[in-house]
Amino acid sequence: KPRALNVVNISGANERNVHLECNIVLLGCRGAGKSALTVKFLTRRFISEYDPFLEDTYTSEEVVDQQTVLVRVMDTADQNGPVNPERYLHWANAFLVVYSIDNKKSFEGCCQYLDIISQYNRGALHENLVLLLGNKLDMERYRQVSKADGSALASRHGCLFREVSACLDFRLVQQVFHEAIQEARRE
Ligand code: GDP
Ligand code: MG
Repeated sequence: KPRALNVVNISGANERNVHLECNIVLLGCRGAGKSALTVKFLTRRFISEYDPFLEDTYTSEEVVDQQTVLVRVMDTADQNGPVNPERYLHWANAFLVVYSIDNKKSFEGCCQYLDIISQYNRGALHENLVLLLGNKLDMERYRQVSKADGSALASRHGCLFREVSACLDFRLVQQVFHEAIQEARRE
């Protein structure tokens, strides 16, 4: 039975003591691995079965560039494409659009999210960071989306591109989140 971990305030984030903040939202098709990546980033562990309907926002204190940042991570759970993007468009400083490299449909599903974000960013005061993230790099043998395709889609939208795996090295997942935080703060 899928379980949901309570990872809120896992590192004892205390909003009053932190001056820098960054809100990150994870978007993408169901099954791409958004929850697995979120849990990995927050707990260093891979949880293989996570409630696919659970949408929640978690907080964590992260040290990036020797500065403490209060990071909020919204793990969305759209079931069938983008619904209600207003809930994160104004809120987020960084958008992680996730697909699974072994699932072409999940890659195609990213386009709608990237379009919505591009459109929003055009009218926004500050451009927000967007990162296209190919997950499940451990499934290389079943790859359906080439690195070149990922990279091309990212450049069409003027965003960053990375590939990771929620079940491999924690540091690589942490690196992607920290990079997003770094870049978002620079905007
Ligand atoms: P979400 O719907 O985007 O939140 O996707 P989940 O995080 O619930 O993951 C969907 C399925 O993919 C689950 O069975 C996970 O165990 C699996 N999964 C997630 N990330 C990875 C990964 O990096 N590698 C592999 N092999 N499986 C993963
Ligand atoms: Mg999920």
